[in-house]
Amino acid sequence: MSARVPTAAINPGWPVLAVRLCVCLLVLAAMLPGPASGEPRGEPKRVLMLHSFGRDFLPWSAFARTIRTELEQQSPWPLELQEHNLLSARVNNPGPEAPFVDYLRSLYSGRPPDIVVSIGAPAARFVQKYRAQLFPETPMVLTAVEQRLVNRTDLTDNDTVIAVYNDFSAFFDSILQVLPDTQTIAVVIGASPLEKFWLEEVKREGKPFESRVAFVWYADLSFAEILKRASMLPPHTVLFWGLMSIDGAGVAHEGDLALRNLRAIANAPIFSFQEAYFGRDTVGGPMHSINESSERTVNAAIRILGGGKPADIKVQPIGFASPKYDWREMQRWGISESNLPPGSEILFREPGIWERYSWQLSLIACVILIQGGLIGGLLRERSRRRFAEVESRQRLAELAHLNRYSAVGELTTSIAHEINQPLGSILTNAETAELMLKSSSPNLDEVREILVDIKRDDQRASEVIRRLRSVLKKTPFEMRDIELNETVRQVIGFVAAMAHGRDIALKCCTASAGLHVKGDAVQLQQVFLNLMINAMDAISEVEAKKREVCVTTSLSGASAEIRISDTGAGIATGDLKKVFDPFFTTKPQGMGMGLAIARTIVEAHHGQISAENQPLGGALFTIRLPIARDRSTSA
Ligand code: ADP
Repeated sequence: MSARVPTAAINPGWPVLAVRLCVCLLVLAAMLPGPASGEPRGEPKRVLMLHSFGRDFLPWSAFARTIRTELEQQSPWPLELQEHNLLSARVNNPGPEAPFVDYLRSLYSGRPPDIVVSIGAPAARFVQKYRAQLFPETPMVLTAVEQRLVNRTDLTDNDTVIAVYNDFSAFFDSILQVLPDTQTIAVVIGASPLEKFWLEEVKREGKPFESRVAFVWYADLSFAEILKRASMLPPHTVLFWGLMSIDGAGVAHEGDLALRNLRAIANAPIFSFQEAYFGRDTVGGPMHSINESSERTVNAAIRILGGGKPADIKVQPIGFASPKYDWREMQRWGISESNLPPGSEILFREPGIWERYSWQLSLIACVILIQGGLIGGLLRERSRRRFAEVESRQRLAELAHLNRYSAVGELTTSIAHEINQPLGSILTNAETAELMLKSSSPNLDEVREILVDIKRDDQRASEVIRRLRSVLKKTPFEMRDIELNETVRQVIGFVAAMAHGRDIALKCCTASAGLHVKGDAVQLQQVFLNLMINAMDAISEVEAKKREVCVTTSLSGASAEIRISDTGAGIATGDLKKVFDPFFTTKPQGMGMGLAIARTIVEAHHGQISAENQPLGGALFTIRLPIARDRSTSA
């Protein structure tokens, strides 16, 4: 006998099992990949979209495209979108619609669409008119229709209207605000029944503006004629683009293409309140926002497809959105940013040169800055160098002046001799003349001759003083045209007495042609004076048999050459390189500055000075100075 286990102990009973099953199913359902948000699920929803003119007829095509895209993106169900065009609206209103109605009926008789979305006024009128025959139970969204064209009496609980409101007054106001000089508004609206309706509306709303602007109506013209006139508009005219489906000559047009042609030829800005034309052909202003209307339409359609009641969805007619302007058109027509209504948005602004080439311009700016800094630095350096040059010339002039004093100090004896000689003669002559005049019969002719001698001696003494003063005068460094032979002669005249006093023969052999150089006469005199005194000092220091200083000038290529040689002991070989160094001297009382200053002066004249020993003894100093090409005086 087998033991019986109580059923309750192993079997919890069917209610418990049922609960467990439900929990498991719920957990399983939660774990299974459910339809993600936005992922279509269930039966496809059939959407019928009815266009008023054509799939590509602006501005409605722009609304339809956005609605279609948004609907496909936002619909939680798979969508079966079918689109039809009510072409007859273009030519006739109402037109031969029966065949189209039959076609739709046969198409949807078995299975009507889940929703009908009509785009534009003619489509709205059509679906309202034929709803009973075509889809009596189907909910409808009448969108992109101007509120004046909504047939409110035929609206049912199964309809939602997303209407817009064309505020022509506000639009004309905005035109006159951005272009205050406007005198004429040329209105482009075609001649189809719908366009005729709008023409009257525009005329009515334009009336209050007639005191400010003149209106020109192109409704009766062929589009070719409109283009012709638009190309020759008088100044201060603007074009108002309404609609162009049928022109005055009965020719049908694609709104988009017609506007593009007009834009290409018109000599005036084109304004339209349809955003669909904005961005290429029109200036802008307050416009119907495609996104706003489309968004509301899509919201309504999804609510309805989800079971919402169309009559519950109430949407106020949508007016113009905040104004938007095309920056390129503003530039083209000289529209100032300050004239735009407050809150306006400017689009398509072309990036300025800074935005477009920012890094290139920054690089150029950096290069210019660096270059500017370098140039500034170089200029500062140049001016500092100039200043230093002027400074050094001044110092040189001062040093040279001091050096002249010391040279002249050495000449004191000879100068005293030079002055004493004429003074002595003057005294002797004066005494002789006095004695002669004391005699009873003075020989006046002789006295006259004595007076002439006195005068000549006085002039000699004065000349010595003048030369001395000219050498000792303190002058700034001055570059003038100098004839070197003359300068050399002057210096020789200066040291002649000294040479004579020391029993030294002073020989001078100057070039036959004039040796013109650019230089400072006093400073060059000083150079020659130094070299001649040094030469005489060198001879005086030794017991030379031949006591001679020889000065020669000659033209050597493009340089004037001055050679000063002596018959002294010459320069010790080791000292040859040092003689031009400052403070180098072998003389007990020497300062060692004469040759250093001489070299500085010669180099300041773009010349060269050198020292060497002659083969037969004695030193030879050679100076080369560039011959002046242009002999005009310069400071
Ligand atoms: P300082 O005459 O005061 O010595 P310088 O600069 O004029 O200064 O001359 C420097 C030295 O060059 C002289 O001391 C001398 O030794 C040497 N010197 C210059 N000229 C001659 C010359 N003609 N012959 C030999 N030595 C010379």
